[in-house]
Amino acid sequence: MRPRIHRASSMASYPHVRFVTSANKLVQLPPDVGAEVAVAGRSNAGKSSAINAITQRKGLARTSKSPGATRLLNFFELEPNRRLVDLPGYGFAKVSGDMRAHWGTLLQGYFAKRGTLRGTIVVMDVRHPLTDHDQAMLELASGRGLPVHILLTKTDKLGRGAAGNALQAVRRELPRDGNVTVQLFSALAGDGVNEARSALEKLLDGMPIGGGRKKETPAGPADPAGVNEPGIGG
Ligand code: GDP
Repeated sequence: MRPRIHRASSMASYPHVRFVTSANKLVQLPPDVGAEVAVAGRSNAGKSSAINAITQRKGLARTSKSPGATRLLNFFELEPNRRLVDLPGYGFAKVSGDMRAHWGTLLQGYFAKRGTLRGTIVVMDVRHPLTDHDQAMLELASGRGLPVHILLTKTDKLGRGAAGNALQAVRRELPRDGNVTVQLFSALAGDGVNEARSALEKLLDGMPIGGGRKKETPAGPADPAGVNEPGIGG
């Protein structure tokens, strides 16, 4: 991995961010070159709002969805060869078993085979973090040893003390290897947006986010056998 000077987060906005393509099958993914960070979250957790806040583009990711609608992997180019991938929201009980199985297979294939994937941002509602679906997503996203950064969002709905307690409670549940980091976030209040953008940049650059050990970013496709069957569809 080539060394890169990390830019100050205040400069790391994306004036040329653009939607590239959507994929419903692995063959529809854009060319596997450059660096990519996936963004995942339970439906309604605030993922689209987080993407829009981080990229400073209202409406880049859609904030209204219906549970039964086709879910796609949406690719956005932040800068040439640097992409953000909006993954389908998970956790809706209403979707059919077939659709759930399709997403599961699609996401498993994506996480196992995408060489340019550098890490994942997982968005969780600070009031209901680490659901079973979130745990399955964390397992899937970190299956290759790739870093995961959690945004505990909608913190404006809690007092500062309660949000801080939630942060500590989530930290206690996470592995201590430094591969999973977590922060507070509010798209509405703008809290934690710079920190999240900085985390995104570090992930894209293959740099460690927390104070833990230095991570190595796997350069190529991983062993798909290392990925467990996740239950993230519904
Ligand atoms: P997604 O389904 O995960 O993409 O979630 P959305 O971004 O569409 O947000 C779901 C709902 O939560 C919407 O009504 C948003 O306005 C609301 N929401 C998202 N982020 C925040 C936040 O930081 N604070 C508050 N209070 N509401 C939020």
